[in-house]
Amino acid sequence: MTVLGATGSIGESTLDLVGRDPDAYEVIALTGCKNATRLAELAIKHRAKLAVVADPDCYADLQEALVGSGIAAASGEKALLEAASRPADWIMAAIVGAAGLKPTLRAVKQGTATALANKECLVSAGALFMDEVARHDTTLLPVDSEHSAALQAMTGTPPESIDRVCLTASGGPFRTWDLQQMADAEPAQALKHPNWSMGAKVTIDSATLMNKGLELLEAHHLFALAPKKLDVLVHPQSIVHCLVYMRDGAVLAQMSCPDMRTPIAYSLAWPNRMNVPDMRLDLAKVGTLTFESPDPEKFPALRLAKEVLAAGGSAGTVLNAANEVAVEAFLDNRLGFLAIAGLVETTLAGSPDLIALSPQTVGEILEIDEEARRRARVSLPRIA
Ligand code: NAD
Ligand code: MG
Repeated sequence: MTVLGATGSIGESTLDLVGRDPDAYEVIALTGCKNATRLAELAIKHRAKLAVVADPDCYADLQEALVGSGIAAASGEKALLEAASRPADWIMAAIVGAAGLKPTLRAVKQGTATALANKECLVSAGALFMDEVARHDTTLLPVDSEHSAALQAMTGTPPESIDRVCLTASGGPFRTWDLQQMADAEPAQALKHPNWSMGAKVTIDSATLMNKGLELLEAHHLFALAPKKLDVLVHPQSIVHCLVYMRDGAVLAQMSCPDMRTPIAYSLAWPNRMNVPDMRLDLAKVGTLTFESPDPEKFPALRLAKEVLAAGGSAGTVLNAANEVAVEAFLDNRLGFLAIAGLVETTLAGSPDLIALSPQTVGEILEIDEEARRRARVSLPRIA
C-alpha cells in the first residue's frame, strides 16, 4: 500500500490503523509536502520503500533524516507521480486540494484500488476522473465519512429503489452564530471544529459549509446520482453521516463516532470489516441526535455548490479553484470569513467562458483551474 498525503490528518489516521497490524501491510511509498521530519519518521516506522516530499526545498532535510535507513528519498512533482504509479494493491489519496489530482489519477490509471479522501479530485474533474476509473476498472472507495456511509447504506439496493441520499453536516463552529459575528470571525475561531479534528482547509470548508457543497458534487460523480436526489441535513452531533431514503419509505442511516478511522478502516478492509475496538459507538452516552435544515443566508456556499451542480460543465473546476484561493486568503487574514463565499460567487459569475468549456484531458482541466485562480486573485482585493 501507498499513502499520498501521509503527513496530513487522513494520512496519519491511515497509518495509525496500519501500524496496529504491521505484518498485514507492506508500505511501498509515503508522500508529504513540506514536513520532511515527520515524513521520515513515518517512513522509518512503517518500513516504507520510498518517501517523497513534493516541495524540492525540503529534499535535503528528507535525505538527511533518512540516512542509513535504506529508504529511498525523492522530491518534486515527477517523484510524486512516480510514487503514485509504483505497483501497489491499495492507495490512500489524501493530498489536499487540486494538487492531488494528477497523482491520484496516476494511481487510478494503474488500476490500483484507490481510497479517495481528496474530494477536490471529483469536484474539479469529476467526469474525467470517473471515466478513468471505469476505463481501468479501478476499485474506487470513498473515504469521506458521508460517502463511505452512503456506500455502506446503499450496497445491495438497486439505484431505482433509492429516492434520495442525504448527507449530514455538523453545521461547523458558527452554526449558532449570527451573521454579524460571522463577518468578524477569525481564522483561529473557524479552525475550532466542534466534532472533527482535520486539516486546515477542510476545517474552514466545514465552517462555511462549502465542504458540504463539495460533497454534493462528490456524491453526484461517485454514485451517478441526479442533483434532485441529493440533499443536506444539519446534524450537530456528527453521529449519523448519511441517510438513504428508499422509495418504499424506509430510511437507512449509517452511524459511527466522528473519527475518520472508521471510514478509513472500511476502505482498507472492504468488503470485509477491520477490528477497531476503540471506535465502538456508545449511543446511551451520546443521548440525543438532532437534525435541522441548513440556514441559506448564513451559508451561501451551499447554494453556490447546488448551482454549480445544476450548471455542470467546468463549473466545479472554477468553484474549487476559487474556493482554494479564498480559503488560503482567509487563513492568511487577507479575506473576511463571509467573503470566502463572496469571492467564489464573483469568480463563478465572471467565468461563463470557462464554465462552458468541455476539457478532455487533465492538462486542460488544470489550465481552467489556473485561470480561475488567477481571476479569483484579481477580484480578491475588491471583495476583501
Ligand atoms: P491535511 O492538510 O491534514 O493533509 C494534507 C496532506 O497533503 C499533507 O500530507 C500535505 O503534506 C499534503 N500536501 C499538501 N499540499 C500538497 C501539494 N501541493 N503537493 C503534494 N502534497 C501536498 O489535510 P487532511 O485533513 O488530511 O485532508 C486531506 C483530504 O481529505 C482533503 O481533500 C480533505 O477534504 C479530505 N478529507 C479530510 C477529512 C479529515 O477528517 N481530515 C475528512 C474528509 C475528507
Ligand atoms: Mg465529509
